[in-house]
Amino acid sequence: MILDLFRLDGKVAVVTGARKGLGLGIAAGLAEAGADVVGVGPIPMPETEEAVTSAGRRFLYVEADLATQRDIPDIAAETTASLGSLDILVNNAGIIRRDDILEFSEEDWDDVMNVNLKSLFFLSREAARQMARQGRGGKIINIASMLSFQGGVRVPSYTASKSAVAGLTKLLANDLAKYGIQVNAIAPGYMATDNTEPLRKDPLREEEILSRIPLGRWGTPDDLKGAAVFLSSRASDYVTGSIFPVDGGWLSR
Ligand code: NAP
Repeated sequence: MILDLFRLDGKVAVVTGARKGLGLGIAAGLAEAGADVVGVGPIPMPETEEAVTSAGRRFLYVEADLATQRDIPDIAAETTASLGSLDILVNNAGIIRRDDILEFSEEDWDDVMNVNLKSLFFLSREAARQMARQGRGGKIINIASMLSFQGGVRVPSYTASKSAVAGLTKLLANDLAKYGIQVNAIAPGYMATDNTEPLRKDPLREEEILSRIPLGRWGTPDDLKGAAVFLSSRASDYVTGSIFPVDGGWLSR
């Protein structure tokens, strides 16, 4: 039956930045579809643990700061040691720095590129190694952005990182196909999380953004559950290298 293809029973999903915002919504969605979830981040995440365990799934917290690559080997090792396999990776952790272009600092460049791009690549490599060892394929989902397609303003390192995430998603899809691993990205539109709080607090920017969204509202973490489950499941086995907008129609304007 077609709906059975969307089930994630018996799968183990690693979600970075799962404590709040979009990562929390994705972790909850994957657990509701049947996956055990590993939440990765610098501080514990009781709300995520509650969402996963109340769906009847196992939860593991792995402490890791993705500003560096130091903790990356431990993420895969602790996942397989505790939960037995690593089948799905969602590279969700991300940061943004806003400043006028003439003032934009090297620190704001490096910090964003390290979390959003460099760690995403090396954690994907680590997860792919484990998936290849397991020999039954896997799924990698990167969280891209509208700024994987558009330039944006005042966020040069964010735009550079998210544009690169789109390119890297396609490269990883090509290179990992022979291991049965599909790699796709979700490109969220404007979502109501801490990442966009300064925009929502600025009445002018809030009005500019809202009036451009055909569906007429900011997105929520729950809005990503459907795409995340689809791209994690057998229902998407012939989908790889795609950048999947969940944007209320933003890119169609
Ligand atoms: P958020 O609420 O600020 O959550 C970001 C998450 O990333 C947090 O859980 C945070 O950990 C984690 N993180 C940040 N730095 C980290 C580090 N050094 N190591 C490990 N984890 C780290 O923002 P969000 O909106 O949910 O963003 C999630 C993803 O969606 C990001 O990649 C973002 O770029 C992308 N995105 C967001 C929007 C939007 O409109 N909100 C649109 C497009 C794309 P802590 O829990 O410790 O803070």
